[in-house]
Amino acid sequence: MRITRKDFLRLSGLGLLGVAGRMAVRGVAKASASSAGSNATKRWGMVIDLQKCCRENGCDRCIKACNTAHNIPQFPDRAHEVKWVWNQPFETVFPLVQTDYARRAYAGQPIPVMCNHCASPPCVRVCPTQATWKREEDGIVMMDWHRCIGCRYCMAACPYGSRSFNWQDPRPAIAALNPDFPTRTKGVVEKCNFCEERLARGLGPACVEACQEKALIFGDFADSDSEPRRLLRSRFALQRKPELGTSPSIYYLV
Ligand code: SF4
Repeated sequence: MRITRKDFLRLSGLGLLGVAGRMAVRGVAKASASSAGSNATKRWGMVIDLQKCCRENGCDRCIKACNTAHNIPQFPDRAHEVKWVWNQPFETVFPLVQTDYARRAYAGQPIPVMCNHCASPPCVRVCPTQATWKREEDGIVMMDWHRCIGCRYCMAACPYGSRSFNWQDPRPAIAALNPDFPTRTKGVVEKCNFCEERLARGLGPACVEACQEKALIFGDFADSDSEPRRLLRSRFALQRKPELGTSPSIYYLV
């Protein structure tokens, strides 16, 4: 069969597209494998017991403790809101929950939410500067504000709305400055860091410590004897949007 120059160019183009496609798939697979944390020794996670959490009585100790510990600005304009831990209605947090019991028990109630520190975090895969990454040693999804260029790809990729953008200088809107934690600047993204600065000092997360009902239970999911793992063996739990394959490290006991 005679191949014309036009056919040759068309076939080589298709070949190149195929190679590029295979490279992209391999890239995603590699990113997923590395983000699955194969070398992890720990996997920090949290279990939130909705039967103990008394947020319907207006309790917001966990939110306030987080805001104070991390110099989170309080802007009066909600369009500029920066949040690490906050409340959302049950139906918004679990839009596809299948159990009638949970739906009826928690209908309309505010549920505490934060970054899920996903085992396979889509936010990490899209960051062009590696300003956000998953720590191999414990699974925490970190954020380096000095490397963040404010492109907000991570915000678009996060299916949980767990990231906030500093549309303006946050410093004037911090109620009481905590000198032990850095402040951020206009133009960077931020989110919950599982209190990695406190974990490094042998403390638990600020929200966990502030909860008088002991509704937030933090621990190492890699340890089958840890309290969160024991609770997950004995109680029914929900994860947010498990169908997306992000594998959140936050579970809700209902
Ligand atoms: Fe990233 Fe969102 Fe998962 Fe947090 S919840 S790790 S920001 S995808």
